[in-house]
Amino acid sequence: MTQSVCILGVTGSIGQSTLKILEQHPDKYSVFAVTAYSRIQNLAVICKQYRPKVVVVPSSKVDELQLLLKQYQVDDVEILTDEEGLVNVAAHSSVDIVMAAIVGAAGLLPTLAAVKAGKRVLLANKEALVMSGDIMIQAAKDHQALLLPVDSEHNAIFQCLPQNYLQIDRQGEPQLGVSRILLTASGGPFLNHSLDELKSVTPAQAVKHPNWSMGQKISVDSATLMNKGLELIEACHLFSISEHFVTVVVHPQSIIHSMVQYVDGSTLAQMGNPDMCTPIAHALAWPERIHTHVPALDLFATQQLNFIEPDVVRFPALKLARQAMKAGGLAPSILNAANEIAVAAFLKQQIGFLQIAQVVEHTLNHVQNGVAESIAQILDTDRLARQVASTYILRLEH
Ligand code: NDP
Ligand code: MG
Repeated sequence: MTQSVCILGVTGSIGQSTLKILEQHPDKYSVFAVTAYSRIQNLAVICKQYRPKVVVVPSSKVDELQLLLKQYQVDDVEILTDEEGLVNVAAHSSVDIVMAAIVGAAGLLPTLAAVKAGKRVLLANKEALVMSGDIMIQAAKDHQALLLPVDSEHNAIFQCLPQNYLQIDRQGEPQLGVSRILLTASGGPFLNHSLDELKSVTPAQAVKHPNWSMGQKISVDSATLMNKGLELIEACHLFSISEHFVTVVVHPQSIIHSMVQYVDGSTLAQMGNPDMCTPIAHALAWPERIHTHVPALDLFATQQLNFIEPDVVRFPALKLARQAMKAGGLAPSILNAANEIAVAAFLKQQIGFLQIAQVVEHTLNHVQNGVAESIAQILDTDRLARQVASTYILRLEH
């Protein structure tokens, strides 16, 4: 019997890497459902090749998809639409594993639906956990979902932690002899740029990551270090640890994917070539291991591993994220929403690179924080923060 997989965000970078792994293991996994947002042509090709039973697209794209499926002679796929469709496939009774790889807040409800349906949830969509934090973690416990990190750093940390670490109670303090988490960051394409140079960097330069090939939004986040900020928050929730036990270490080679330190002086690191297929395969098969095409690390070719302290003057986003995590409640949702709006504005060349963090800081200062009691309240705050950020961007433009 194969395990049935739903890929939320199949047309993206993580979605494509997931298909690559599944294709290598047809005896273990089958593609049950896939979802796309704008790349409908790509989705149709995926349908032809992988023959999913269900697809989800925005309702405005159904006609286009139906036409393409007809051309490809695919006539046995059910089409669902919009957020309701996403939530339905994520919780579908025929699905065993959900890859949560939609980018941004749009992935929150479907990811949470998968968790509440008790699935094995492979979490790439870090924004969903940044927003919902304790609510998502508690839902995973209540519904016996297995929430496994795909983000390479968190997957690395998970590999370096004691086996049963995710099952222990939330304390804020490291448990089972763990003393600290070292979250590595590549530093992005502008690691050595001066503040002055950062003023004029372009979207094209920002999305050209030195080590990883990723979607546009996370590439810009990597360039501002907001990605590391979001990951800091993600780590605190996933591993039940307060932010002051997490140190960010810039490691430009992206060979060590993160580390865990123990009270006896040990530091465990997970290493590998920077290819998301490794953490995806790990989360799919855990606690077993399956083959990927990723070549083993050649340490003689690697030669050097460097470690640098992050510079929060040139990359203030990291500092803002840490402050938001410390403040808790709705602050991480406000940070995330403002960042999504600011990154989109930067990609459209409405604001400069350094203004991304400025928009986030302004929004954090102008939207009221509070206890995050429900998903509805988190979504309301997300909407409000987007409005505040957008209004501020209009002011910056003039
Ligand atoms: P991409 O931009 O490549 O893909 C995003 C996916 O989400 C696409 O399938 C896209 O559909 C879909 N999507 C976008 N907006 C919506 C929406 N409003 N509603 C429904 N679906 C939508 O991103 P990545 O694959 O790079 O990243 C996905 C997630 O994984 C992000 O949260 C990112 O932070 C995380 N991640 C990514 C890593 C990477 O290496 N890429 C590493 C670690 C984490 P379409 O393309 O059809 O428009
Ligand atoms: Mg990462």
